[in-house]
Amino acid sequence: MLTVSNLTAHYGASQALFGVDLTVGAGQVATLLGRNGMGKTTTINTIMGIVKATAGSVVFDGQELTGIKSHQIARLGLGLVPEGRQIFPNLSAMENLVATASNHLGAPDPWTVARVLALFPELEARTGSMGNLLSGGEQQMLAIGRALMTNPKLLILDEATEGLAPLVRQKIWSALSEIASGGMSILVVDKNLHDLMRIADMNHILRRGRVVWRGDSAALEEDVQARESYLGL
Ligand code: ATP
Repeated sequence: MLTVSNLTAHYGASQALFGVDLTVGAGQVATLLGRNGMGKTTTINTIMGIVKATAGSVVFDGQELTGIKSHQIARLGLGLVPEGRQIFPNLSAMENLVATASNHLGAPDPWTVARVLALFPELEARTGSMGNLLSGGEQQMLAIGRALMTNPKLLILDEATEGLAPLVRQKIWSALSEIASGGMSILVVDKNLHDLMRIADMNHILRRGRVVWRGDSAALEEDVQARESYLGL
């Protein structure tokens, strides 16, 4: 479904990605791991066309994405839950949900407000509240709901549970499991390795802008050395 090959990206003269290779199969949950500053956000933002690729390719459902504008990439079925959530602060939760809603690809069982509220019942009583008045957990649920409302084929989450209380994190993980078991492909970045490994089919570890390790969660569990040297865990 998504194949990233030899992807490079720069911020001005400074190179951030040095040839990233990763794949997300249809219906798979793939993770992007690595210590701070290793290029996780840059990889995601380059896939989404927010950062311009300087070389390499990103192929999604047979189509090359490099060189395509970000909003067009979103229309092709990539839904982003960005780092820091980026909820529209002066719109209500409901307005946030419907602001970018669409079903460009004609999904047979499209995401609707009712379906998002069934996934995150916590949001039900908050639909009239302004985005900036929601808690961090509510904002993250809303950010996921907003991405789902674009009916993506691939959901990409940058820091899925950062800064959230343990109970809220568990709600996010179980929602992601539910979404994944519905067949959606997911690419996720997070620091909670054990939670991630439970839902992942394939893990990729980034070090200095390159994927230096890949494997399923059983392999990562076993590879103490990889976890220590690349993740400090
Ligand atoms: P974190 O977990 O801290 O978010 P990350 O793995 O997502 O880290 P990136 O944010 O992609 O890493 O950063 C990769 C490299 O690019 C780092 O060296 C970082 O300093 C640099 N970088 C990131 N954003 C910018 C920017 N806007 N301008 C210049 N350099 C940047």
